[in-house]
Formats: sequence, structure tokens, C-alpha cells
Amino acid sequence: MRPIRPGDRGPAVREIRAVLTGLDLLAAGPSAGDEFDADTERAVRAFQQSRGLSVDGRVGAETWRALDAARWRLGARTLYHAVPEPLTGEDVRSLQERLLEMGYDVGRADAVYGVRTSRAVAQFQREMGLKPDGSCGPQTMGTLRRLGRKVVGGRPQWLRESDAIRQAGPTLVGRTVVIDPGHGGTDPGVVVPDGPLRWTEADLVHDLASRLEGRLAAAGVRVQLTRGPTPQSCLPDAERAQLANSLGADVFISLHTDGHANPEAEGVATYHYGTGNGVTSATGERLAGLVQREIVARTGLRDCRTHAKTWELLRLTRMPAVRVEVGYLTSPTDRGRLVDPRFRDRLVEAIVAAVQRMYFPIERDVPTGSIDVSALRAAVAAGRRVGAN
Ligand SMILES: [Zn+2]
Repeated sequence: MRPIRPGDRGPAVREIRAVLTGLDLLAAGPSAGDEFDADTERAVRAFQQSRGLSVDGRVGAETWRALDAARWRLGARTLYHAVPEPLTGEDVRSLQERLLEMGYDVGRADAVYGVRTSRAVAQFQREMGLKPDGSCGPQTMGTLRRLGRKVVGGRPQWLRESDAIRQAGPTLVGRTVVIDPGHGGTDPGVVVPDGPLRWTEADLVHDLASRLEGRLAAAGVRVQLTRGPTPQSCLPDAERAQLANSLGADVFISLHTDGHANPEAEGVATYHYGTGNGVTSATGERLAGLVQREIVARTGLRDCRTHAKTWELLRLTRMPAVRVEVGYLTSPTDRGRLVDPRFRDRLVEAIVAAVQRMYFPIERDVPTGSIDVSALRAAVAAGRRVGAN
């Protein structure tokens, strides 16, 4: 769908304004009822910022879904596990965050009332002496409210995810890594039209993905790409996430380059799932930190740090997931490096080293830049488990 943007008019704009008014982001007033005016744009930006979405002041498909979900406040309706269309909304997310804080296993606070959420609610109900039907009606809601916000030490989801990784041991052999080259098909991503340095983001990240595939496969990893070099159409992010889930990925890495009107913008940034108010995938956060530090150390790209986002790509994936923006195609400096295949190999080595470090126990982790990636391959050939000594 075409994004709804400043200057637009009509019933869709009226609806957007109504939701934003309900969230106290927009003052209620009779003027400009169905016009996407400057106040509406400001409110949309504030909303996007608060949800960790890309802040562009327009309402595209992802912002629209977030607005639609934001109508629901916890307690306004009964929540239950519906099939085949599960209930989604801000109220579901609040419930999940509350349960996570109390140590119940809902997986990730993804705002979808699935089987796992329903099971966690049933467990809560059992422990509170309620009928464990897995749905959240007035009685369960009342019990939750009476308990108030009980803050527990540590982050249960984090502990669970890191347990799974620790139990798997430090070897990379047999793991499944899904690599997601961004864009593709009708969507080239960032395009720099000039001269011999012309690369589209879609082509460049596919090249990186293939190199990464080769390196990881040589280290004994099962690798899947979410798309080929020239797909017919561009796969939406939600479908890329679902693909990674259905492939049972242990790690998900999405590759992008950035772009900006200012040619001086440059550097690498990495994103992981998080709401910005305490709920985060800490294994995702750790992977993002490792990827970011290894890339900065091995390539010298400017450090634009790691950031928490609730993008569908990161929210719907059920494994540690990161999105890396490996430099700005619009920066002459970054572009000059990215077109050099040796530089791209260094980038890929940095990512392989980061994935390997994910599987070292934290107390046995090694300094950034110290893993010799070619040794991984030699060790696999010799049948040894790297890092398992
Ligand atoms: Zn991109």
C-alpha cells in the first residue's frame, strides 16, 4: 500500500487521527478532522519513536498495523488464544510484558496471543487458584492488577535464551543460520546512480550474503538465505521472519546498507529487538554488540552503535536476530570501501567471528578481533570442535 502522508485527506486520515488522539499524542479538535496536517505528522513521528519504528512521519503498512494494535488497552476486552487468526494488540503486549516480568515463559513480547502466551496465562491461573483456561478475562485481569507490578531480578527471557545457547555448547557445527539480504525484486533499496561505483543496496547485500554463506558453511554451519540474487518480488519483513522461524534458525542476520541525503553520514549500526523500556531480547542484544564490535575493529567503519527496535523482522523472529547496516552507500568513503571485494571479505569475517563468539560461554569469551576465522575452517576439516578445548 502507498504510505498515507502529509497533505493527504480522507477517512483513513480521520481514523489515524482518532487513534493518535486516543493515545494523547494529538489534541482533540474539530479543525482538520480528515487532513494529514503538520500536527498529525508530529504525532505520527512521536508514535513511531515510542514504538521503535522507523521515524518518517508517514503511515505505511508497518505503522498502520502498529496504530491498529495500539487501540487496545489491557482490560478493555477478554484475551484468548484464537485460531486461526490470533488476537494481536497493545493489550496483548502489556499482558506479555507483565507475565515476563513475573517470570512466566511467553517467549517474546510480540503482541500476538499465541499458544505460548495462552500456556503462560494458564500456569499463572493455576498458581493463583483460578480456573486454568488460558484466557484472560475480568477475573484473571483483576488478579493481575491486585499483584501490581512485581519487579524481579534479572530478565527471565534472557536467562532462558542464554540457557538454550549454553546447553548447545561452543561448536558451530550443525547450527542453522538464516541470512537475510534486504530488499530485492522490485525494491533495490538504496541506489547511488553515479558512475562506475554504481551498486544497489539489494545487489551489494546479496553479494555479502553469499560470501557469508560460504564462510559459515565452511565452518560446518547450515546456512539458508531468504532470497536469491534476482527475486521476482520483494518479500515483506514479516514473511522473512516467519521463514527463519519455519527453518528452525539458531541465529538470524539481516544485511542492509544505509543511505542519507547528507553524503557525510557514514558508519555501521546494528539493531536488535527491544522496546526501549526494559523489555529486550538480551541474546539479540549480545549478538548485536558482538557483530558491531567485530565489524568496527576489523574494518574501521565508523561506530554508529547498537539500537533496540521493535521492527517486525526483529519482533517476530524467535531466535537471536540482528539487522546490520554495514555502512552508507551514499557516503563516498563507505561506498569506496564497500565496492572493494577484499573489504567485503573482512566484513564477512567479522560477522563469522561474532557468530562464533555467541557460542563461547561469556566467561571464556575472547577479545574482539582475535578470532582467526580461517582456523575455524581448518578445525572443522580436522574434525575438532573449535573453542571446546
Ligand atoms: Zn535497507
